[in-house]
Amino acid sequence: ARKYVLKKHFQGEPKINDFDIIEEKLPELKDGEILTQAEYLSVDPYMRAYMIRYKLPTDMIGGQVARIISSRNSKYPVGKYVTGSFGWRTHTIVDPNKPQKSSLLPLALLPDIKPYPVSLALGVLGMPGNTAYFGFTELCKPKPGETVVITGAAGAVGFHVGQIAKILGCRVIGFAGSDDKCQYLEKELGFDHAFNYKTVNIRATLKDAAPKLVDCYFDNVGGEISSAIMYHMNNYGRVAVCGSISSYNDVSLPKVTILQPAIVMKELKVEGFLVTRWADRWDEGIMANHKWLQEGRLKYQEKVYHGFDNMVDALVGMLRGENTGKAVVKV
Ligand code: NDP
Repeated sequence: ARKYVLKKHFQGEPKINDFDIIEEKLPELKDGEILTQAEYLSVDPYMRAYMIRYKLPTDMIGGQVARIISSRNSKYPVGKYVTGSFGWRTHTIVDPNKPQKSSLLPLALLPDIKPYPVSLALGVLGMPGNTAYFGFTELCKPKPGETVVITGAAGAVGFHVGQIAKILGCRVIGFAGSDDKCQYLEKELGFDHAFNYKTVNIRATLKDAAPKLVDCYFDNVGGEISSAIMYHMNNYGRVAVCGSISSYNDVSLPKVTILQPAIVMKELKVEGFLVTRWADRWDEGIMANHKWLQEGRLKYQEKVYHGFDNMVDALVGMLRGENTGKAVVKV
């Protein structure tokens, strides 16, 4: 097995020199255990944000879709696929019957998702899909006709939230980092409006595109754009705080807008969440997203990087916004 070990905490963007890639000899399988071989590894923003919590050196965290290549567990036969939070490693031995460390991607046998690629288990049919499904429906409680704004709108979680909002009959406005992404959101996914946050004036744009103000805000990025959006909300508006990627790589102190007056005066409901809150309803989210996919109401796109040695390039590429939809690495 080969694996990434983090030896230096990230300063700004992650770098290959922050890691060692180590060869590890795996032991014989014991009763109940399976040996898996990674087929797709996920790169996610939380990897940039979380690693500071770990004492170094430490194995790199992350979800993967892996094929079972040896098994001493009849419920997990050779040839089947599993998802799990095995980290950045090529081969893994695990006993599925033993309790797993709590993680963003539970260990599970992959159901048959043909004709879709198994990599979707890291995207629309996995953790980001469930983040969109539960985070949006449970926290924003959208009603038909309401105006929904999404930042990070062309990414794995954002483009999914926008599509659910359209399915539920909302007006959808997305902010993303390039004109091409915005065109994709409007033309392919049916967003009512999408704007390049790098080139437009956010306040003026909101005034034009959301004349009746904003009812739901799904916040993937945090920072100044979120402040502008929250000052443009309706009374009793709902804000699902999903992430704050605009600050993950930022080593300087961001300038601060005091948000509390908007929250008080508009009586906003602002709630952060972790998708693990719905661990006991995990399959419900996957099934709902799978159904929408089959009905053609949910579309997907992936940015596929290639090669285990290119994990860091993939992580940095995603953080820089190279991806539309979910960024994954084919091992
Ligand atoms: P994405 O697929 O959206 O990839 C990250 C995207 O962030 C990039 O494509 C880039 O797009 C955008 N971005 C990068 N830098 C900035 C910046 N400075 N300002 C605005 N946008 C930026 O990732 P995910 O969909 O996986 O994650 C989206 C958010 O959701 C993250 O904040 C993540 O931490 C959070 N999250 C939270 C979970 C939870 O349980 N709470 C679970 C999963 C994700 P662009 O070209 O538009 O800039």
